[in-house]
Amino acid sequence: TATHRPIAPATDDTRAIAELHDSFARQQAAFAKDPYPTCAERQDHLGAIAAMMLSNRERIRRAVSQDFSVHPELFTDLVEVLGVVGRAVYAAEQLPTWMAPETRFTDPGLYGSAQAAIRYQPKGVVGNIVPWNFPFDLSVGPLVEMLAAGNRVILKPSEFTPACGELLKEMIAATFDADRVTVVTGGVELAREFSRQRWDHLLYTGNPEVGRLIAVEAAKNLVPVTLELGGKCPAILAEDSVDAASVEQVLGTKLIKNGQMCISVDYCLVPREGLGDFVRLAEAHMAEHAPKFTETGDCTGIITERHLDRLIDLLDEARAAGCTIVELQPAAKVDRASRRMPLSLVLDPADDLGVMREEIFGPILVVKPYDTIDDAITHVNAGEKPLGLYVFAKDAAVADRVLTRTSSGGACVNTCAVQGALPALGFGGVGTSGSGRHHGIEGFREFSNPRGVVTRGEGDLIAALYPPYGDIAQAV
Ligand code: NAD
Repeated sequence: TATHRPIAPATDDTRAIAELHDSFARQQAAFAKDPYPTCAERQDHLGAIAAMMLSNRERIRRAVSQDFSVHPELFTDLVEVLGVVGRAVYAAEQLPTWMAPETRFTDPGLYGSAQAAIRYQPKGVVGNIVPWNFPFDLSVGPLVEMLAAGNRVILKPSEFTPACGELLKEMIAATFDADRVTVVTGGVELAREFSRQRWDHLLYTGNPEVGRLIAVEAAKNLVPVTLELGGKCPAILAEDSVDAASVEQVLGTKLIKNGQMCISVDYCLVPREGLGDFVRLAEAHMAEHAPKFTETGDCTGIITERHLDRLIDLLDEARAAGCTIVELQPAAKVDRASRRMPLSLVLDPADDLGVMREEIFGPILVVKPYDTIDDAITHVNAGEKPLGLYVFAKDAAVADRVLTRTSSGGACVNTCAVQGALPALGFGGVGTSGSGRHHGIEGFREFSNPRGVVTRGEGDLIAALYPPYGDIAQAV
C-alpha cells in the first residue's frame, strides 16, 4: 500500500456535514414509509439513470476532461456514460428474475408441505464513497444495483474531482427526489463523517489504507461494508506468449487513463530469457501505435500535481537505485501544465523500492523476470491478493495452473481488465483488494437482505421440538 498518498487540503465541511445529516434522516423516514418499491418502480429508476446519463453526455465528457486536465472524450463516453447505461438497461431487464423469491429445499419428512424461500429485501439507506479515477462509473454504476435492490442512496464524490462532483449533484437532483438519491460534496472531514453514519450498507471504493479506516468506523455501528480496493495487479506472460499480441494487451490497458485504473497492469512477470524480447516488443508497440502519446488527447492527465510528483518520485527512486528504466516514448518529458507523463518500464527492481511496494496507479510498468511458471506463481502469492490477475498462455493447462494456484478478485486469460467491463460477471476484490461485489446480480444481492422465509404447510413434525419432551427412549 502507498506510503505517501496525496491528501487534499482541508476545507470547511460544516455545511456539507449538516446537509448529510439532514439527507440521511429524510431518506430513513422515506424508507420507513415505503420499504419495498415494486419491480416496475425500480425499473423506472433504472430507466431514469440511463436517460440522465445520455442527456448529460456532453457535460460528463467536459467535466471529466476538466478534472483530469486532459482526458480522451471517446473513452469517457464508452465507459463513464455508455458503460453505466448498459449496466442500467441490463439490470432493468434482469430485475424480475433477480427479485423473484428463490425456493429452497425443505425436508418433507420433518416439515411436511412447508415452503422455504429467500426473499430479497431492500436494505434501506445506503452510502457510496467514490474515488476520483472513474467519477461517474463508480458513483452511478453501483447506484444501478443499489436502486435495483430498492434502496435509498447518498453518494459522496471525491474531493479530487470537483467538476464531476458538482455535475453529478446537479444531474441527480434533477432526476431523483432527494429522499431517494442525493449527492453530498465536500472534503475529507465530510468523508470521515460520511463513514460514521448508521448506514444500512456502505460501499467504499478507493485505496486500502482508507479502506481500513472505513471498516473501523463501520464496525463501530456494525454497518455492513463493501470495500472495492486496489493493489498491484500482475500480468504473467508464459514462455509461449512473449509476443506482440500479449504486449498489445498489456500496454493497451496501461495506456488507458495513463495507468490510473484499479485493474490496470501494475507489473509484468516475464520469463528471464524473454525479457529482452518483451522490451523490444514494447518499444515497437509504442513506436508504431503511440509515438507521441503524451502530446495527444488520448493521454489522460495525472489527477493532481501531488499525484504526479508521487509518480516522478517513484521513478527517480528506482533510477537512483540503479534500475534500468526504459522510456517508451524517449523524446517525451513530463508536461507539468497538463500533468501528462510518458510511460516507462522499470526492469527488475529490488523488492524494497516504492515501485514494488506501492500500487503504481500511473504510467510506470514494472517488469520482473522469472525462471519457472511456479516461481511466477510464488511471487504473486508472496504479495497481497490482487484485484485483477492476467495470464497470457497459449497452453490452457499453464493458464489453468496459474488460475488455480493464485487468488485475485477477477482474472483474464490472454487479455487484461475486461472482467471489469462485463456487468454479468460481478466485480470485486479479495483480501486487501476488497470484499463484497457489485455489478449485475452480485450487486443486487450485495445491496439486498437475503431474508430466509418459512411458510408452514401441513403434515410436519415441528411440534416435536416443543417441550415437554417426554421419554426420549420412546421417541427415538
Ligand atoms: P480518493 O483519494 O478519491 O479517495 C476515495 C474516497 O475516499 C474519496 O471519496 C475520499 O473523499 C474518501 N476518503 C478519503 N479519506 C477518507 C477518510 N479518512 N474517511 C472516509 N473517506 C475518506 O481515491 P484513491 O483512494 O486515491 O483511489 C485510488 C485507489 O482506489 C486505488 O488504490 C485503486 O486501485 C482503487 N480503486 C479501486 C476500484 C475497485 O473497484 N476496486 C476502483 C477504482 C479505484
